[in-house]
Amino acid sequence: MKEIKGKIYDYDRGDVTEEHNEYLKNKDSQRECSVCSCDFDIDGEGGVDGAIGILPVAFCPTCYSGICDMCSQLEEISETDEQS
Ligand SMILES: [Zn+2]
Repeated sequence: MKEIKGKIYDYDRGDVTEEHNEYLKNKDSQRECSVCSCDFDIDGEGGVDGAIGILPVAFCPTCYSGICDMCSQLEEISETDEQS
């Protein structure tokens, strides 16, 4: 027996409702940001997850846009270096 959102569902009896499925769906989309450690919903809020080499990472929408800004700024700097 496990309590979900104040209701009790019995897994052994196969007592799985639509609400429970919704809960599991939401739970699966939860990620912890690798930068700021906040919990976010990748399906609901956005953001990305994946791997850098073998290192699994997830970025919340705020950190993801910050990383994109940083990359575009670094690209501008390297383009400036190439011209000089
Ligand atoms: Zn973050």
